[in-house]
Amino acid sequence: MKEIVSIPRLEFEEKKAIKLFITLFYSFLFIFEIFFNFLSPDRPKDQLAFLHKGLGIWVYIIILSLLPISTYLIKKQKVFVIKYMFLYTYLITNFIQNMLVYYGTDKPFEEGNIAEILFVLFSPIFINKRFFWIASIGSIGKYLLIGLILHDSHVFIPSLIFCVFSAISFIILNRFFSYINSLTLIHEDLRQKEKLAVVGQMATAIGHEIRNPLASLKGFTQLQQESNPEGNAFYSIMIQEIDRINSIVTDLMYLGKPRAKKLKQENIEEIISYILSISQPLAQRQGINLVTVFEDSLPHIECDADQLKQVFINLIKNAIEAMPDGGNIQINIKVIEDNRLLISVKDEGYGIPEEHLENIGTPFYTTKMEGTGLGLMVSNQIIKDHKGELIFDSFLGLGTRVDIKVPISQH
Ligand code: ADP
Ligand code: MG
Repeated sequence: MKEIVSIPRLEFEEKKAIKLFITLFYSFLFIFEIFFNFLSPDRPKDQLAFLHKGLGIWVYIIILSLLPISTYLIKKQKVFVIKYMFLYTYLITNFIQNMLVYYGTDKPFEEGNIAEILFVLFSPIFINKRFFWIASIGSIGKYLLIGLILHDSHVFIPSLIFCVFSAISFIILNRFFSYINSLTLIHEDLRQKEKLAVVGQMATAIGHEIRNPLASLKGFTQLQQESNPEGNAFYSIMIQEIDRINSIVTDLMYLGKPRAKKLKQENIEEIISYILSISQPLAQRQGINLVTVFEDSLPHIECDADQLKQVFINLIKNAIEAMPDGGNIQINIKVIEDNRLLISVKDEGYGIPEEHLENIGTPFYTTKMEGTGLGLMVSNQIIKDHKGELIFDSFLGLGTRVDIKVPISQH
């Protein structure tokens, strides 16, 4: 996954979360202590007893000293460690305090501060799984350890409360994560589309500029050839190469064109026959047989015939290019479930390594010296525009099968 938010932005978010955490933590901590020691109906008789037991006033000094340290850490841009500092300091001082107060006595264990729950509850706000695990296991572990050392079952209730809150936090945290993941994916998708749109607009603009001079170049070359038929054999090569440039430009321009489809009922057999008639000569030159297998009465399909022709030309061209030593290319057409037509083009070429399959169809991905890496991208787009799918299945060294599934009717 690529990084989508810059670190300063994350730091800013963490700073906001930590400020909220610190405010709530101190408020909860002191309100609870004041209530427990001074206001509650079963407050201790000696209201200042809390200052004399265990670490006494030091507990509060240690916890309060975290405030200036936090401000310092924020200044030093170490904002991510603050939550751990609070957690560890609290757990350790609280553990020592409990040991000093209860160890060796038979007083029932009745400590605990509601502020502790904030560590667990805040892990979804910090969106941090590591913090969640440390906070949950740390807090539950602390109570269980105290229970074991003091042989006191009173730790059971706070442990249970922590288990419940941990479970809730865990669910929320996971929801947040999956939500963030979806957002990241959407963002990636948009970025990809944006990139394509920019490439497309540029391609269309440049394409227009290139096509016109290219057309006159081809015209003049043809004129030269006609007026000098015995002459240079290079003329036909020149014309071929000009055609090649033209087809690259056409592919490129497809990226940026607003695609108004001219959907009509078309006979797929006619489309395929046309494709065969123009690819047959090239195939034969390479010792390749083009075989077609049709079902008897194929239905008409609603499509843009020119665009579909372009797809088949691209696929057959790729198949031919994958079979330098000749072989068979099979084109199968049949009606499949839910009123769709399956057209598959199967070659006996060198195949596509599995790790490259995911790159197929991304713009400019090519493994050929003279490739453009646009053919399949355009084909994919055309098939998508026809509400269909293009699926690759390939075995290295054995061949590749491309399945096109398109709905017979668009309605
Ligand atoms: P190009 O043909 O210009 O390279 P494409 O988009 O048509 O661009 O194809 C992209 C890449 O996919 C090719 O370079 C090739 O590596 C691979 N590929 C496509 N079709 C086949 C096939 N039938 N057999 C093997 N590899 C293929
Ligand atoms: Mg190609």
